[in-house]
Amino acid sequence: MHRRRNYDAHPGDPVLPEGNSSIVLNMTTGLTIWCSEAITLATVLLLAWRHNRQTPAYLMWALGFSVSAIGFALVAARGVIPDIWSVTIGNTIALLGESAWIAGFRWMDKRKLQWSALLPPLIWVIGVNLPWINDDFVNRVILYDLAGAVGSTLLAIAVQPGEGRREPARAQISIVFMTLACLCFISGIWMALLRPSLDDALICRGYVALGYALLITVAIVLNGKLLMERAERRWRAISITDTLTGVLNRRGLQDSYDILAGEGQHRARKLAALLFDLDHFKSINDRYGHQTGDIVLVEFARIAHQFVPRSGAFGRMGGEEFVAFVPIDDQAQAEALAETIRADFCRTPLLAGRSLVPATVSIGVAIMPHDTASWDRLVSAADRALYAAKRAGRNCTIVFSEKETAKPEDAPVDAESGELVPTLDDQIHALRRMRKLAGM
Ligand code: GH3
Ligand code: MG
Ligand code: MG
Repeated sequence: MHRRRNYDAHPGDPVLPEGNSSIVLNMTTGLTIWCSEAITLATVLLLAWRHNRQTPAYLMWALGFSVSAIGFALVAARGVIPDIWSVTIGNTIALLGESAWIAGFRWMDKRKLQWSALLPPLIWVIGVNLPWINDDFVNRVILYDLAGAVGSTLLAIAVQPGEGRREPARAQISIVFMTLACLCFISGIWMALLRPSLDDALICRGYVALGYALLITVAIVLNGKLLMERAERRWRAISITDTLTGVLNRRGLQDSYDILAGEGQHRARKLAALLFDLDHFKSINDRYGHQTGDIVLVEFARIAHQFVPRSGAFGRMGGEEFVAFVPIDDQAQAEALAETIRADFCRTPLLAGRSLVPATVSIGVAIMPHDTASWDRLVSAADRALYAAKRAGRNCTIVFSEKETAKPEDAPVDAESGELVPTLDDQIHALRRMRKLAGM
């Protein structure tokens, strides 16, 4: 067991005990290294914030590192400045840095700030005002470790995912903060149980400070990775989304098609392409204005998207053309989907001021076996079916069976091409007639 030195009085703390100048020097050097590292990180984060002001978390973290650097600089200036500044205020400011980091993590997920973030400096301020803590170096270190452990635990909690976010880096950062909390906690417990000599307490502080700096740096690096991955996901989402309608654009459709086609063995036997083209859209623009045309496009995308099953993909090919790829077991499924979308769109009243916009859609459907399906063949066959639908009078669906879809791409589209799907109204009418006949 170490002999405990009497190191209670404040003025004693920074004075170099005999033969231990290297230890105190190391602690001061450690604090200085941390200060310069914290200032560097604060500068980098500030630049990151200036570059991307949409992430205010950078600003909070920069503030946290600045505050931490100022706090530890005050602690390191022990003996040079009054004790109230180095002991009480210095450590409070250093712990306020942790509060700012906690706030930064909550801001990162657009979550509300919580008062609990102020716990670390609060624990310190309350504890250090108790004379039996204030007058004893080891007790003060234990108190600081306790506040640090609480701060690190709060950081580990704050970095935990908000609703529905699955980001592996978060778990890693959380583990780093929990390790930090354990480090502070073990150091505090060790000091409380063994009441080490001043020399040993200083050595312990040195190691804890080193571990602290190292772990915080690891956490920041991991956090950088997290934000970069997030930015990448955001840009990727933007690159595959149509700006006007919010559905997939052509690039997104191609990616989704590749995934769908690759899942051939496990899913439905056939793949259907439904190509949609709004009817007389140029006239809608000319008559009601381009803005109304845009509203019609958005409305069509909304209606069609809600009917396309999750196992499929829906997006805008360009202009007033949209496409859906759906895995199906038989042709009737594709026909039913196309007709549902067509009928729902044509029945949804779209208003331009007080006038009703007569918007309808023509649909071409092509079907191929899943294992031999290709984007080019499907889309070009669906395009031919769509052409047939336009020729058949618009606001209707023409389906190309597997046999017709397999025809060469430049096959002429004659009047007999494809199968005109009876409209829902036709089907209801036919059922009514059958019932009438049966009743006769
Ligand atoms: P059809 O029934 O034969 O398909 O005739 P259509 O008038 O729909 O076809 P056409 O290809 O002649 O016209 C398409 C129009 O779609 C022309 C273009 O100005 C308009 N358009 C393309 N993209 C947009 C857009 O983003 N917003 C609006 N408002 N109009 C668009
Ligand atoms: Mg068109
Ligand atoms: Mg059109």
